Amino acid sequence: MIIGRFAPSPTGPLHTGSLVAAVGSWLMAKSAGGQWLLRIDDLDGPRCRQEFEDDILRTLERFGLSWDGAITRQSDNTEAYAEAFEQLRKLGAVYPCGCSRAEIARSASAPHPGEEIAYPGTCRSGLLVGRKPRAWRLRTDGVQIAFDDLRHGRITTELDRTGDFVVKRAEGFFAYQLAVVVDDQLTGVNQVVRGDDLLDSTPRQVLIHQLLGWPLPQYCHLPLVTGPDGAKLSKRDNTVSLADGRMVGKESELLRWSFQFLGLVIPAELVEASSGELLHWAQSQPSDFWLKRKAKA
Ligand code: GLU
Repeated sequence: MIIGRFAPSPTGPLHTGSLVAAVGSWLMAKSAGGQWLLRIDDLDGPRCRQEFEDDILRTLERFGLSWDGAITRQSDNTEAYAEAFEQLRKLGAVYPCGCSRAEIARSASAPHPGEEIAYPGTCRSGLLVGRKPRAWRLRTDGVQIAFDDLRHGRITTELDRTGDFVVKRAEGFFAYQLAVVVDDQLTGVNQVVRGDDLLDSTPRQVLIHQLLGWPLPQYCHLPLVTGPDGAKLSKRDNTVSLADGRMVGKESELLRWSFQFLGLVIPAELVEASSGELLHWAQSQPSDFWLKRKAKA
């Protein structure tokens, strides 16, 4: 059975991009007769707020996007992250790094706009004398990673472009790349549907899955919502929080827009349909609706 999920970070209300991820992951799981889990990605403690979590839950409920089972939280999974980290440490796959962000920025060659700064590998073969470990990094060793994405097709990449990446942060908490792999494994998630903004992270997560000997989920990265000029929309200007007065009563309109964005063609008789009716109809559609929005090869 397909087990999909939606994993919002409670750092703000849902916006049009996260609505597309919610609707797309719900549709793919539900149209395949599967389950759709909800996880609150509250790893980054200081940026997460209870009021945002409440707002996200209320908004999903008002759209009629109901989840299966109990909500899970990253903040409850710290022990599991520590165990996975220990496994990676025993494999010799991670090492402590004493570099500060500013040092890395100084020593790395200037990245192209929008690209991550590559880690120059300073602490790969041991901490410099007198240095204390800050973060822990996973060795990528220029490994070739290949995985299938339902929309993009086969993706093959070499993991040395961004270099060894952080799995445990200097502040002491585990990094998103490790946490997300452990979370999905713990809850039996076998389908990960999310926005194209996370496509660059996927090879790193695939590597962690492989090192830990865990099966890969099916991936599908959905197109990003952009403005007329093709630029990514700012989260603040595109909130779809139904606590926001301007959005009240717009549930079905926003759902229709999300379906169309994802490539579903809504029949004329559903133009006036309620969100419940729209979701009911969408569940019976083929689960490869995203083919209409297939990414260019
Ligand atoms: N929590 C992440 C976000 O809100 C998504 C994690 C994921 O889908 O893997 O961007």
